[in-house]
Amino acid sequence: MNIKVLDWRKRRNWLASVRHYAGHVLTTELRQHLSQERPKCWSDDFSWLPDSGYILPEFVSSLTRYYTHFKGFHGCRPLTLSSYYERGLLGQNSDLLCNVFRELFSDVPKEHVEKIIQQFGDRGNRERGAMWLVGCDQYLVYECGHYLIQGSEYLMALAAHLGSSPSGEDYRFRLRGQGVPTVLEIDLPIGLVPAEQHVEVAKMILSEWGQLAARRPLPFGNEPPCYVVRQDIPPECVRGHYHPERIIDPHQGNRPYVNRLQTCDVCG
Ligand SMILES: [Zn+2]
Repeated sequence: MNIKVLDWRKRRNWLASVRHYAGHVLTTELRQHLSQERPKCWSDDFSWLPDSGYILPEFVSSLTRYYTHFKGFHGCRPLTLSSYYERGLLGQNSDLLCNVFRELFSDVPKEHVEKIIQQFGDRGNRERGAMWLVGCDQYLVYECGHYLIQGSEYLMALAAHLGSSPSGEDYRFRLRGQGVPTVLEIDLPIGLVPAEQHVEVAKMILSEWGQLAARRPLPFGNEPPCYVVRQDIPPECVRGHYHPERIIDPHQGNRPYVNRLQTCDVCG
């Protein structure tokens, strides 16, 4: 199979590739039209695109025929990494996380811990199996660093609701005591990514292409695409990982968090 990975970090590459798969919709005439009119080429309002009812869906299907994978990055704070390489990413298992939670807070009165778990039962069912990835690792480290510093958002939410100890310990920060802050690099087969997210990525590319053609760069829009995967991700999709040394900590006023754990069971 001819593998083509969309790597959001390589803007020049994916902009240059557009002509290989979408030349029939993003034509020279369209480019000239944009170059003359110079509209604001938003990604959520396509009034700038003539015949968008045809072009948009046609662009989405051309994009998803051309690329086989979307590169995504997953932030986590796992105890070991070998299971990712052996079994892949198995989604969020809230039962498993609840057991980790019970163990981590075994000094807190049991009925208090169980009450919090119960309150989150619904959310656990709703989010079961969902995995979050973003198209750019720098964005993960600088904008969503809490996934690396504290790990699972589900655990974090449980700990936040547990509050603090009589002596004033903020229980959220206890999650920082175990595991290794990690960025996993994943090549997601696009079949694992829900179709509505294909559309989102296509809109982002189309907007960037339009801004270039119109020579009118818009502010905002530096956010990479986000992928929510609700299936297990097989181990061969794991392309690598690293442990960043400096992470921006959104739960501590965006102060840099210095990570002293630079190795794990796999890379150590
Ligand atoms: Zn490692």
